[in-house]
Amino acid sequence: MAFVSSPPSSGSRLLPRDVFELKALAERQPALAPAATLQIDLIEAVRRVQGRLTTPWIEASVETLAGRLANGQRLLEFQQIPFDWNDVRLLVRQVTDVLRRHEVIDAATAAALHSVGRSPTLPDVMRGWFELQPAMEIEMLGEVLGWSARPYLQRTAEVLQQRVSLEKWGRRVCPVCSAEPEFSVVTTSGDRQLVCGRCHVRWPFNPIACPYCGNDDRTTIKSMATPDGMYRVMICSPCGRYIKALDTRKATRPLMPYVDLIATLPLDAAVMQSQR
Ligand SMILES: [Zn+2]
Ligand SMILES: [Zn+2]
Repeated sequence: MAFVSSPPSSGSRLLPRDVFELKALAERQPALAPAATLQIDLIEAVRRVQGRLTTPWIEASVETLAGRLANGQRLLEFQQIPFDWNDVRLLVRQVTDVLRRHEVIDAATAAALHSVGRSPTLPDVMRGWFELQPAMEIEMLGEVLGWSARPYLQRTAEVLQQRVSLEKWGRRVCPVCSAEPEFSVVTTSGDRQLVCGRCHVRWPFNPIACPYCGNDDRTTIKSMATPDGMYRVMICSPCGRYIKALDTRKATRPLMPYVDLIATLPLDAAVMQSQR
């Protein structure tokens, strides 16, 4: 009798690999172990909810979606994200507990974050976060809401991405959720894709311009790379910001946003050093 193993549920299919890679990274580079373990704990919290998600139903037709992009409008509106608020509340609590356990936040901040999670106004606070207009000032609130919204946002983004091409978007913010890019990818042809910090969607962008201020004067943009050439960073003088990239011409695997963000922490340190 043959046993056929069932495939993992779609929402969580990429996560075990991320955890595996993060564990390997922590062993290879012990200095990164605290950041890698924190990231693993956050991923595990999200993964439990991700496994329960169903495919969201998006009302809009392909023509409507393409029309929105052509008009420079993002694809997703807050009310279309299929939040399960009980699970979101659970995630706010668990993510806060992870941050507290890793001593990223103090007890008072953890208490304040817990009370946001319990509050009847949580959906309004989440909406403020999504619209990039934070409703309140609590340390790490954006991060906690980001991790708590992630399963829903990512799943919806995946569905939208299958329906419409993002190739012609070319703007500095995410075509799905309008957040800023957090990372980038240099493709095998030398083009660049930006990676959304919230929903992980990717879209093509001018390879020489700064994705934060639009500056494309090469003389004011500095570039550095890791010795193996796998990661690069572009630093923009006018706005003082920088974006890291995985160079797929040198990398041995595709982008893994959760992993690459941690693996490139030494590059952040190098940027800080160079700006001193
Ligand atoms: Zn996004
Ligand atoms: Zn800039």
